[in-house]
Amino acid sequence: MSAVSPTARRAAGRATDPAIRKPARTPWCALVGAGPGDPELLTLKALRTVRRASVLLVDDLVSDAVVALALRGRRKPPRVVQVGKRGGCSSTPQAFIERLMLSEALAGERVVRLKGGDPFIFGRGGEEAEALRAQGVTVEVVNGITSGLAATTALGVPWTHRDHAHGVMLVTGHARDGAPGPDWSVLGAAAAQGLTLVIYMGMARLAAVQAGLLRALPGQTPAAVVQHAGTPQERACDCTLASLTEAVQAHGLGSPAIVIIGQVLQARAALAIAERRVA
Ligand code: SAH
Repeated sequence: MSAVSPTARRAAGRATDPAIRKPARTPWCALVGAGPGDPELLTLKALRTVRRASVLLVDDLVSDAVVALALRGRRKPPRVVQVGKRGGCSSTPQAFIERLMLSEALAGERVVRLKGGDPFIFGRGGEEAEALRAQGVTVEVVNGITSGLAATTALGVPWTHRDHAHGVMLVTGHARDGAPGPDWSVLGAAAAQGLTLVIYMGMARLAAVQAGLLRALPGQTPAAVVQHAGTPQERACDCTLASLTEAVQAHGLGSPAIVIIGQVLQARAALAIAERRVA
């Protein structure tokens, strides 16, 4: 018969088994907005959070400059995994990314998912947060500057200049598989009421978007496209709704790009004149 009581045996086991001795860390993950590309547009909180990562999952819309800043001077750099979800490009399937985040978080890693722009604006951050929270992972979300905002500002235009617009609509041009997508003529009618339309992922279906909007908006409505906003590769074109697809082809613009439609683009000319006066 053993002289050691079951209670003592359990206590000894606790003392020698490192998994039991070390209090288990609550599984944790952060979804961090990397902004449009310029590392100076990263928030202080975003930078602090990515620098705490032991595993960094990087979206393909995140600029190399932002990743370099996240890694700079780290004595123990995180494991960096490039993942991405770009329409039309070969990329890591969403389900795989979610499984990877979950398994790393459950294994005790400090998982940070660095996403282009803002994680909760068309970034599937909502789905990722739901999937992780459902498995007991604590999810922190850190906002970033969304590319639609950076694109409009790159043109020198405020989303909601009081003289031209009383609101803004952020819309995706990429419908979910099998879903009908938005009714562009209805959105055009809303834009006609003074709302600026900011379209993400609109380049692949630009002709259909243009045709729908033209059912509700005059062809002369100002339009603009900004590719790679907030990065050194930034390019843009100004046009009208009627000449949108033609202008995009003529300038050779492609994804990732933001399409902006609305009278607020008139503010660009006014602001440029004011700037010249100041100069
Ligand atoms: N969460 C991101 C959006 C992801 S959806 C954000 O808040 O910005 C992907 C789409 O975002 C692209 O198809 C494109 O329309 C837009 N996009 C992302 N980065 C961009 C950039 N630097 N310039 C222009 N458009 C960009």
